[in-house]
Amino acid sequence: MNHSISSKHHGNESVANKQNTPSMSAETHEVFNQPTALDPFDAYQSDTALQDWVKIFQSTDSHDALKRYGQRVGTDLFEAGFAANKFKPEFKSHSRFGERIDQVDFHPAYHLLMQTAIEAGHHSLPWTQKKMGAHVTRAAMEYMHSQADPGTGCPLTMTFAAVPAIAHQPNIAKDWLPKITANVYDPRNVPFYEKQGLTIGMAMTEKQGGSDVRANTTFATAIDKTGPGEAYELVGHKWFCSAPMCDGFLVLAYTGSKEQGLSCFLLPRWRPDGRKNEMYIQRLKDKMGNVSNASSEVEYRGAFAWMIGEEGRGVRTIIEMVSMTRFDCMVGSSAIMRQALAQAIHHTSGRAAFGANLHDQPLMQNVLADLAIESEAALAISMRIAHALDVVQQDDLPADTIEHELKFSRVATAIGKYWICKRAAQFTYECMECIGGVGVVEDNILPRLYRESPINAIWEGSGNVQCLDVLRAMQKDPSVLDAFMAELKKGLGVYPVFDQYLKSLSEEFVDLESLEFRARSVVEKLALAWQACTLIQFGDASVAYGFVHSRLNQYGGYYYGTLPKDVDVKAIIERARAK
Ligand SMILES: Cc1cc2nc3c(=O)[nH]c(=O)nc-3n(C[C@H](O)[C@H](O)[C@H](O)COP(=O)(O)OP(=O)(O)OC[C@H]3O[C@@H](n4cnc5c(N)ncnc54)[C@H](O)[C@@H]3O)c2cc1C
Repeated sequence: MNHSISSKHHGNESVANKQNTPSMSAETHEVFNQPTALDPFDAYQSDTALQDWVKIFQSTDSHDALKRYGQRVGTDLFEAGFAANKFKPEFKSHSRFGERIDQVDFHPAYHLLMQTAIEAGHHSLPWTQKKMGAHVTRAAMEYMHSQADPGTGCPLTMTFAAVPAIAHQPNIAKDWLPKITANVYDPRNVPFYEKQGLTIGMAMTEKQGGSDVRANTTFATAIDKTGPGEAYELVGHKWFCSAPMCDGFLVLAYTGSKEQGLSCFLLPRWRPDGRKNEMYIQRLKDKMGNVSNASSEVEYRGAFAWMIGEEGRGVRTIIEMVSMTRFDCMVGSSAIMRQALAQAIHHTSGRAAFGANLHDQPLMQNVLADLAIESEAALAISMRIAHALDVVQQDDLPADTIEHELKFSRVATAIGKYWICKRAAQFTYECMECIGGVGVVEDNILPRLYRESPINAIWEGSGNVQCLDVLRAMQKDPSVLDAFMAELKKGLGVYPVFDQYLKSLSEEFVDLESLEFRARSVVEKLALAWQACTLIQFGDASVAYGFVHSRLNQYGGYYYGTLPKDVDVKAIIERARAK
């Protein structure tokens, strides 16, 4: 299947004017001092920081695959991102003959994005190649893909993340997992057994409770036998079910009283006997961002589903999926920041004001370098988690190494999800301001990135929920905090500011009574220390110095552009510039 895009996006005419010469003429004047478009660009080879972090955390060589993907992201996929968001998914409840079909139609650009990603293994790489570096490679792919279109990232991440949860149920996994992990995109609305490639969604959130899934009211009744792997019918609803054209959905429902706990189910779009399943799309959500992704409200009126994992332990089963999607939120928000930054640096390099190029003006240098530091710090800790995921998959590494990475990533994923997703919105706005008035105009990508920027913070556990999760993890097993602190200590001995910051961090855990009230400030401090120690250990020296001396002392201000004067802003901007 070959999906081509039929509509052109934004003012691509400027690509022809790459030389930025004043040859473009409007009716009354010459057009000059207008930057060129950044695209076409190579999302991998133009990104020095990404290439460095892939190298730092990866032992295998995946550069050719990433180069190929990077070229696509900066050309046809970038174009497709505009079209897939301009031409929204359309819901059709019935066919023209009056049959109920529950069909969502997407623009060809959406399919191009999905097809390219799935054929490259964006949804499957670490499951099909369990070698060191596979998670890092996939994260790099997601990082690039999300710069073109974060919306398709939703079904891609859910498909990727569903694998460990479905693996809990061998009799279902044997039929589904080979097709979920196949690099085949098949968007046809036909039963799962007729396809070679399957996608997976997730439906937990209900009207009366999203963060608190225990408030769910959806009820599952066994068709015959009860228990793991058996068939049930579900009655209830889900208030958010993104990507409803997926082939199956991981869903939570009760089989008995609330005390018995929720169970996890795999609900296929078509029943095994070839009939349409009783999952009815009520409507699509009219969202402010993430527009290419169809988020729907659904009702189950006796919908067929198999129980996955132990009865009453559904939250534990699905949490493995959730921890993967939370990691992907870190990568996705880092990607939004990267693309906004690349646009801001590119634009300001081609713009002069008050007689000088903006890149030569000290205050703009301070803002751009501060943004670049933030962006690279987000990428650094995202890749650190990807590395942890790689390590825990290796059978030949020492058990204590694997245990450290497991404990570290348990708490670090929640910290990173909270912090990066929170920072993205303010960051994106600041990049818009660098671009000036045209930054808010829809024919460039900034408005779309800005509308996208709060989504990851709310989805998959909002800010407070992440902070409470950090506390819960620490209370359940205090050794996860020890593992996190051991990681932070690896950054000691380089900058006194960092050493002092780390010392004061342990004081945060003296007053346990007020910990919940202070959870945001504690998690924020942990996040900053983690970003600093990752940059100190592995990062570019100018970026690490700038981060430590702006974020860990009293110098840093509330907004970007408050770096102290000894930071090498020119080197930092040059490193972040899309080459
Ligand atoms: C674009 C998009 C796509 C989505 N797709 C899906 C999907 O495919 N499947 C799915 O299941 N869901 C999906 N969701 C839903 C999303 O996961 C929920 O919106 C989210 O989990 C929050 O739940 P809620 O909306 O019910 O908010 P609530 O749970 O009502 O939370 C409201 C606020 O209260 C805070 N809060 C909650 N508990 C506490 C506490 N104890 N202390 C302090 N503060 C607290 C939260 O942090 C939040 O800020 C999607 C959401 C978006 C925006």
